[in-house]
Formats: sequence, structure tokens, C-alpha cells
Amino acid sequence: MQADRQQLIQSLFDAYIEMYASRDDRLTACFSESFSGYTGGGDFLVKGREAWVKITRQDFSQVTEPIRIEMLDLSMQDLSDDVVLVTALFHIHLPINDQVLASETARLVLVFRREGEDWKIVHSGISIPYHLVQAGEVYPLKGLQERNERLEALVDERTRALEALNNKLELLSNTDGLTGIANRRSLDRVLAQEWNRAQRAGTPLALVMLDVDNFKHFNDHYGHLAGDDCLRALAQALVKAGRRAGELVARFGGEEFVVLLPDTSLPEALEAAQRMQHEVWSLALPHAEIATGIVTFSLGVASVVPSRDHLPEDLIRLADTALYQAKASGRNCISAAAS
Ligand code: GH3
Ligand code: MG
Ligand code: MG
Repeated sequence: MQADRQQLIQSLFDAYIEMYASRDDRLTACFSESFSGYTGGGDFLVKGREAWVKITRQDFSQVTEPIRIEMLDLSMQDLSDDVVLVTALFHIHLPINDQVLASETARLVLVFRREGEDWKIVHSGISIPYHLVQAGEVYPLKGLQERNERLEALVDERTRALEALNNKLELLSNTDGLTGIANRRSLDRVLAQEWNRAQRAGTPLALVMLDVDNFKHFNDHYGHLAGDDCLRALAQALVKAGRRAGELVARFGGEEFVVLLPDTSLPEALEAAQRMQHEVWSLALPHAEIATGIVTFSLGVASVVPSRDHLPEDLIRLADTALYQAKASGRNCISAAAS
């Protein structure tokens, strides 16, 4: 193909695509009187310039915003001295409110023919996978919208499922697997929060530490599985003994539990510890290996008004020391930390 011919047709083609993309009505002047063509949506041959102009106007009225054409490949071929075939492959980005489905890949065939001094488009055939086109549409707008809605609904559904899963994971990572109450990790987090809150408010924060008495003997006598059941029952009893919304009952590890009591003085914490003790006594879980005959706790109680001179771990240490005293005093009793 001659270079000047190629250049001329290329510039005519570029101008045509530019007008098409910018929805420029002057594009209709490019068509020959003896035009024929296929639209993207229609499967019938359109004959005559007037019929094609009508389709072009319908196209422009259905999509009034500019269209973006992303050219992928272009080739030109002389069919005769006066006829040139242009074949273009491109992405067509419709200006619809949808990033995913707004683009289709199209193949456009244009035939230019010299008519006197001018070159006119005598044939146009665009091939787009527009199987979704509905009656009266040039572009599959309704189809794309429906597909888009289905996709959005699917994304919403997946997002909700993911959120539910995340909540479940969050819950699991804060929950003790055996007893279903808060775990050590959760305790550390809540203790830090309550510590800061109490420090700002200048209110006391109390902690009760509980350790099952002679639990090793319980396991030895009844078996480890019965021991597990016992720990579950004890955890529930501690939850039941709770009075205030801000309390946290956690498994500290092994057969040790902790109850965190915000805004609670030492006398109030001792009362709370007594309620826990009574709740567990009333369970009356048999323990054949000890004098009481039932499962009991030793309890250590501490309460501090948090300050910058102390750390949350100090509260745990105080309660632990008190617990040690309770064990030393013969078990099944409550000991308070000297503060
Ligand atoms: P003390 O009164 O001094 O606390 O005596 P103890 O026997 O309770 O104390 P020790 O620390 O010697 O034993 C604790 C026992 O708790 C040993 C361990 O097998 C048992 N234990 C810890 N975690 C679990 C558990 O998850 N399930 C069961 N069944 N037993 C546990
Ligand atoms: Mg222990
Ligand atoms: Mg113990």
C-alpha cells in the first residue's frame, strides 16, 4: 500500500474514531450514499446512508457521554485502486457507572471508497460480544446493568460472609477453647484498657485470682476428661456469680481463673469473691480426695487505684501473692492483698 494513501486513510480513520468516541454528529458526513453496515447489537444489514444516520443518532442518544476507545491493533489493505479496507481491534469503554463491565473488546471493519475528491465510508461492520443487547438497544446497557447488579449483590454477600467469619475468628482468638470464657490474651487486653480508664478516672480496679484446690488429685481420681468438665462448670459458676456489666471472667491458665472488677474497692472485691465461693460451693462437685468432699477454690483478692508508678501486672502479682497466702492458710478460703 502506498505510503501517502496509507497516511490519508489512517487520518480519515482516526478522525472517524475521534468523532465516534466524542459523540460528534459530524461523523454522519463520512458515510457514502450507498452505505451498508451492521451495528454491534443488530444482526441485520442496514442499507442506505439515511438508515445508518438514524442508527448513529440512536446510538448517540442512548450513550451521550464520550466513549473511550483503546486501540489494540489496526491494519489496512487496498481492495482496489479506490477501495481500502480498515480492520481495527480495540477495547470500547462505555461511560456507564461500572468499572468491571463497562469495557468490551470490539472488531471494526470499515471500507473506504473514493467518491470524486473524497473518501467515504461505504461499509461498516462492528463485532462486539453484544449478545446481551435487548430490543431497541445499540449497546447492551440493560444487560450490563443487570450483570452489574448481580455482581454487586454477590460482592455484598461475600463481604457479609467475610465479616461474619472475621467476627467469629476475633471471638475465637479471644475465647478459651475449653471453657468458652475469655482467655489470657483477652484478659491482658481488657486489663490494659481498664487500667488506663481507672487511672484517668482515679477509681480502683480489683482482681480476684482463683485456683482449684488439689485439682491434680481430682484428675488422678476421676480422670482428665472429668477434670475438663469440672473446669467448664466452674467457669460457668464464676460467670453466674458476676454482678456488674464491666466484669471479665477469664481462664488464666490450667485450673486458674481471674475475675477483673472495674471500679471496685477491696471490701467490695472481697464480697464479690465470697459470692464466687458460694456459687462454687453450691455446685457441690464431688471431690473424693479432699476433706471437704467437694471441689473448692482458693481465692486471692487485690484492689488498687492505678497510677503511673504501677503496671497492670502489679495487680496480678498482688492477687497472686494473696492466693498463695490462701493456699498456705489451708485452701478453700479467701485472702486479701495488703495494699
Ligand atoms: P493446689 O491446691 O496447690 O492448687 O493443688 P493442685 O493439684 O490444684 O495444683 P497443681 O498446680 O499441682 O496441679 C494443677 C493441676 O491442674 C495439674 C493439671 O493436670 C491440672 N490441669 C491444668 N489444666 C487442666 C485442664 O485443662 N484439664 C484438666 N483436666 N486438668 C488440668
Ligand atoms: Mg494452679
Ligand atoms: Mg490448684
